[in-house]
Amino acid sequence: MTPLDVRSARPDQLVEGDKGQWEIIVGLEVHAQVTSEAKLFSGASAAYGGEPNAHVSLVDAAMPGMLPVINKFCVEQAIRTGLGLNAEINKKSRFDRKNYFYPDLPQGYQISQFKEPIVGEGAIEVEPDGEEPITIRIERLHLEQDAGKSIHDLSPSETFVDLNRAGVALMEIVSRPDMRSAKEAAAYFNKLRSIVRALGTCDGNMEEGSMRADVNVSVRRPGQPFGTRCEIKNVNSTRFMMQAIEYEARRQIEILEGGGAIDQETRLFDPNAGETRTMRSKEDAHDYRYFPDPDLLPLVIEEKWIEEIRASLPELPDAKKKRFVSAYGLSAYDASVLAGDSDAATYFETVAKGRDGKAAANWVTQELFGALNKKGLELGQSPVKAEQLGALLDLIKDGTINGKIAKDVFAKMMETSEAPGAIVEREGLKQVTDTGAIEKAIDELMAANADKVADVQKNPKAFGWWVGQTMKTTGGKANPAVVNEILKKKLGV
Ligand code: MN
Repeated sequence: MTPLDVRSARPDQLVEGDKGQWEIIVGLEVHAQVTSEAKLFSGASAAYGGEPNAHVSLVDAAMPGMLPVINKFCVEQAIRTGLGLNAEINKKSRFDRKNYFYPDLPQGYQISQFKEPIVGEGAIEVEPDGEEPITIRIERLHLEQDAGKSIHDLSPSETFVDLNRAGVALMEIVSRPDMRSAKEAAAYFNKLRSIVRALGTCDGNMEEGSMRADVNVSVRRPGQPFGTRCEIKNVNSTRFMMQAIEYEARRQIEILEGGGAIDQETRLFDPNAGETRTMRSKEDAHDYRYFPDPDLLPLVIEEKWIEEIRASLPELPDAKKKRFVSAYGLSAYDASVLAGDSDAATYFETVAKGRDGKAAANWVTQELFGALNKKGLELGQSPVKAEQLGALLDLIKDGTINGKIAKDVFAKMMETSEAPGAIVEREGLKQVTDTGAIEKAIDELMAANADKVADVQKNPKAFGWWVGQTMKTTGGKANPAVVNEILKKKLGV
C-alpha cells in the first residue's frame, strides 16, 4: 500500500494543470562529504584537488589483498551530524557492499550502509522564506565511500580516471518525501547545509561538490496516494534544484494528463537547457546485490561515546537564532540570516559585543553584506574586519561622526581596510556639534533666502529643505539633531 503522507500542500502550493490541480512531492537524498583529513577506510588524504591520483592508497586502488580499516573520526562526524539532526543514533550498524561496475570504482562495489545505517529517524525545522516553519523528517543517515572520477574531455578517444575522490567519506542524508514545493526543498537543503557547517562535519562547499542532492520528484492529485517518482541526480545548487523540480513536475503533469504513465527513472538536469533528461531507468535495490561486507565487523557504538559527542555539540542555528532575538532584540528575519551561517554569526557577535545589537545587525546585514555582494567577496575575505566595523559604530555612538558620514567612511574602509578613526581624522570628517559654527551657517542661509523663510513659516513641509541645505553647507558633518534644534528656534517653526 502506498501511504498517504502526513503533509498536504497548502492551496497556494498546488500546481494548475490543464485538467485540474496537482500536488508536488519532493524528497531529497543529500550527499555531504565528511570533513576529515583521511578517507573512510584508508589513511590517504581526503583533501580537495591535488595532482590526479596523488591521494590514492593501495586500499583506494583496490589492490588484491588490501583490507579496509574504518576511520574513527568519520564515525564520530556521522554521530555528531545525527545528533544535530535530532536523530536516533543506532548503537549497532553495518557496512554493506553495493555492487556495480564503473571504471572509476576499482573495487567493483561501493562500501555503504544499507539495512542498518548509523543514524535513524530525525527531524529538522525549516523556514522557507516568508512562510510558516515546517518540519521535515529525516529517514536516515548512512556512511559510504565516494567514487573516483572519469575524465572524458582530455582525449577524443580515451577516458582517464582520477581516484583522488575514491574512498572519501560521505554521509548520505535521506529525507522523507515531506516537501511540497521547490521553495521548500531549497529551504530544507539550505538548513541542512547550515547545520553541518555549524557542526563542522561538512564544509558545505557546493562548488567543490562537498554537498550535492539527488532530488526525488513525483506529482499526485490532492488527497491521493503518491505517484511514481523520478530521481534527478547530483544537483549542486539550490537554484538548479528549484528549476529542476519545477520543470520535472510540469513534465510529469503533462504525461499524466495526456493519459500516460510515469516511468521510474534516473534523470539529469541540464542547467543550460533548463530541463531534465533521461539518464537511465531506475535500478531497484536488488539490482545492486547488497550483502554485508565480510571485511568489516559490525559497527558497535557505546552510549558513553554518544553522550561525550552530544556534550561537545556547538550551538546550532535554531538555538542561535532564538538567542539573537532574545539577547539582541533582532527581528526573526535578521536573526535567521545571521544565525544560519557560522561565519556571519561570529562576525555579528563581535560587532555587537558591548554595543547596540540592532544597529550592529543593520550594519552587517545591509551595509556590509551589500558591499561584499557588489565586490563578489565572501565574508571571510571582507576588507572590513568585525573589530573595525565595531569601532565605526562607536564613532557614531559617541557623536564623533553622524550616520551619513559613517556610510562614506565605511565605503572607504571597504577600499583600504583602514581603521575608521584614521579615515575620519585624515579627511576631517568629525561631526560639527559646535553650535556657533552651525548657527553661523544657518544665519547666512536665512539672509540669502528670505523668501524661503516666509514660506517655511506657513508651510511646515518646507522644513526639510532647510535641514538639507544646512547639512550641505557644513559638508554633511553637522550633527543632525543640533541642526534641527537650531533651525526650529531660528525659523520659529
Ligand atoms: Mn549514496
